[in-house]
Amino acid sequence: MARLSQADLIDLNRTFEERTPQELLEWAVTTFGGRVAALSSMQKSGNAICHMIHTMSLDLSVVFVDTGVLFPETLETRDRLASEYGLTVRTLHPEQSMQQQTAEKGVLYLTPEGQKECCELRKSAPLDAVAGEYDALISSLRRSDGGARGACPILAVDTRLNCLRVNPLVNFTDEQLTNYIQNNDVIINPLHDQGYATIGCNRCTTPVLPNEPRRAGRWRHLGPWSVYCGINPTDLDPERSPAVDLPQDLVDRILGRATDFMI
Ligand code: SF4
Repeated sequence: MARLSQADLIDLNRTFEERTPQELLEWAVTTFGGRVAALSSMQKSGNAICHMIHTMSLDLSVVFVDTGVLFPETLETRDRLASEYGLTVRTLHPEQSMQQQTAEKGVLYLTPEGQKECCELRKSAPLDAVAGEYDALISSLRRSDGGARGACPILAVDTRLNCLRVNPLVNFTDEQLTNYIQNNDVIINPLHDQGYATIGCNRCTTPVLPNEPRRAGRWRHLGPWSVYCGINPTDLDPERSPAVDLPQDLVDRILGRATDFMI
């Protein structure tokens, strides 16, 4: 095994800034083979990625965490993407239902500390089920989302899952995303047209007013629009410089080092 740190990825990330989302998806599939999947919460950006996987005929499964308290429209969107785009969607679940969790721990999502625990139990922990199966997960974070995502790298190490996160859409502006969705008639969650700028659990998501920030509808009861669930490590700690351990030949492929030399 070889150690790969966020610092090791600086030059590659700089080079990748010039690449299109489709080129980055192609790179991910070529580099990681069968050990890469897409991670989606069935929102606009994730759906654009799903559409690209479909049109490029990429052999990529989609991993989805169903917290057990999602809107029915979100589950319907997942099912439409699977059937109409021919995608394999792998749905992960928390150990306990919300009723079981509440009986044991109370209503966690009403306090800042409880929200962290609830998101850990219902979003991050279920994703641990794929630890060791994938060397890379494709996410759909965009710098235009602002906040902690304003400086999101294209490639980020994920120490919890010991894999790379690949963010092909980091440079996609709001206008580019809207155009892509409209021009390609991408399947989207109908709640987006009902005032929901971003969509998570039904307990913690509301519509937003036209003059509010996009994330104002997430954990509105906890204010001031700076809360993240933690399923994307860079949301919580964008400044850290962590490292993962991956096979040497894979690290060489990621960094573009030649490995077929003769002595
Ligand atoms: S978004 Fe709310 S309900 Fe969903 S896991 Fe986080 S705290 Fe719990």
